[in-house]
Amino acid sequence: MRMDKLIEKISHKLSHKNLITMIVILSVFIIALLGAIFRNDIMRPLSNLTSPGEDSNTASRPPLVVIDPGHGGSEPGAGNGKINEKEITLPISLEVEKILNEKQIDNILTRRDDTAVSLEDRTKLANEKKGTLFISIHNNSFTDPSAHGILTTYNPNSPTGESNAKIMQSKLKTLGMFNRKIVPRPNLYVLRRTEMPSLLLEIGFISNKNDLQLLTSSDFQKKCAVQIVKGIEEILETNTTASSKSSSKD
Ligand SMILES: [Zn+2]
Repeated sequence: MRMDKLIEKISHKLSHKNLITMIVILSVFIIALLGAIFRNDIMRPLSNLTSPGEDSNTASRPPLVVIDPGHGGSEPGAGNGKINEKEITLPISLEVEKILNEKQIDNILTRRDDTAVSLEDRTKLANEKKGTLFISIHNNSFTDPSAHGILTTYNPNSPTGESNAKIMQSKLKTLGMFNRKIVPRPNLYVLRRTEMPSLLLEIGFISNKNDLQLLTSSDFQKKCAVQIVKGIEEILETNTTASSKSSSKD
């Protein structure tokens, strides 16, 4: 047959070396083809399996606000007479929690009662839970009882630290206390060790008579919580807008 003769002719012409070259080229082609199939049919569905709620995709996770009531238990914080800082920071924090719950903003408190929690445990909790924002609530104190007012401290090494502090202080200054503005505090443990944007609020001076009067009023504590939540909402909104803008540039 003609066909048989042709094949015979070709195979005679093909040396052993040529045959090996052909096998190698064919193998490379098959491997490339398999690779393309693998990328399209296996890898694509795998990447789609990662839902927005998973840890691997924190950007689209709903925000989690960590509220940190300063001091507690055997660590009373600053004091003035019978009043201790821990007794002011907790009710304000619980009020913040209540408002956040009403607004369905996920939140967690580092303490919900009069117990001592170490600074290490506070930041550990925030980091483990992958908090979006950490707000520590404290009161100031000074040897000179005339020192008074409200301020927001931030970590200057955090990219959003200063801008977040400005937002928070713009809400806190409406509370009627003297506006001490924003203060960089690079060495504060909770600001340094939290792996998310964080602020530490010094709400009034417990050592000042007028500030103390406000701080012990449940009406003031509630108004204070309202402003803190307003600050939180604006910070979350601003940071989300900023991150979506930067990701759209990619
Ligand atoms: Zn304190």
